[in-house]
Amino acid sequence: MANLATRMRKLSSRSRDKVPELEVLRLMAEHNPRSCELQLLDTVSVKQHELPIYAMKIGRADSSKPALALVGGIHGIERIGTEIILAFVRTLLARLRWDDALRAELNEVQLWVLPAMNPSGMWLNSRANAAGVDLMRNAPVEASITVPPLLGGQRLSRKLPWFRGNPDQLEPEAQALCDFARAHLFTAPFSMVLDCHSGFGFKDQLWFPYACSKEPIVHIAEVFAFHKLLAETYPHNIYTFEPQANVYNTHGDLWDYLYQLALAEKRCFLPLTMELGSWQWIRKNPRQLTQLLGFFHPIMPHRLERVLRRHLTFFDFMKDAVRSHANWLPVSNDRLAFEAAARQLWYTPS
Ligand SMILES: [Zn+2]
Repeated sequence: MANLATRMRKLSSRSRDKVPELEVLRLMAEHNPRSCELQLLDTVSVKQHELPIYAMKIGRADSSKPALALVGGIHGIERIGTEIILAFVRTLLARLRWDDALRAELNEVQLWVLPAMNPSGMWLNSRANAAGVDLMRNAPVEASITVPPLLGGQRLSRKLPWFRGNPDQLEPEAQALCDFARAHLFTAPFSMVLDCHSGFGFKDQLWFPYACSKEPIVHIAEVFAFHKLLAETYPHNIYTFEPQANVYNTHGDLWDYLYQLALAEKRCFLPLTMELGSWQWIRKNPRQLTQLLGFFHPIMPHRLERVLRRHLTFFDFMKDAVRSHANWLPVSNDRLAFEAAARQLWYTPS
């Protein structure tokens, strides 16, 4: 690992051009050594270039503290997810230079960011990785319900979208994410993930597992408590919040897989997916459709600025909610009431 780290210390100029987000992250770490630490999870190659998969830890909380991970770039073309995480990191690092309260907070919650999980896909401007595999269809999870053709995951061809890859072999990016979760999230007393995507729908959405089943997860009471906390704390928040299976179903969802792994280890691990409502950018500026990236990324500078600001409050809220999880996670009778409310809200056919 040390050799890898040395080799990756400086990205080649070609890599910097193609995936500048990696260099931004590296420079942030280099300039803020007292506030954060960059870890190299693995490297992947594309066109004879080796690219790093990084995880950055911000603050000094030890492994006995609850953990939050912000994940982005799993689909290489959905770069806005990476950018909103980097915008949040930039703010945190600036604050950590002067804000004692934030320093104290980040001793109590492990804050991890993994903003560029699929650097070869980012290089190629593709959803899949360099091997043509969709990392969100790659996990060994078979849906228990009918999934939409192709979109739900397919094994016909890596030339078509939503290719699942080898059912017995996680792709290196997916394996790196699973190894990271086992090492840093499942070992924490409580953990959450926010995985940032774009390209589907008009509204900003928050989804929780399952994608593979219409049944509620074991921790549905905890998810409902989080949803309630958000609604009470920010009654005018912008997000729709529901199980992914209420929108569409897939095979091979990595968060379904990791949730089930955590469950087997009796951990309370709540992964959320944020799906930015990119269709509204297209509605406001149809010229976006003339560029491939425009389907997933706001092209107009003012709209990009707006999107980069828009989620900072929610990221902060998640950090604080995870840190103070003991004050809102339901116990005993509340759990039963929350589970019943969740079933009523999300699992009752209308
Ligand atoms: Zn995506």
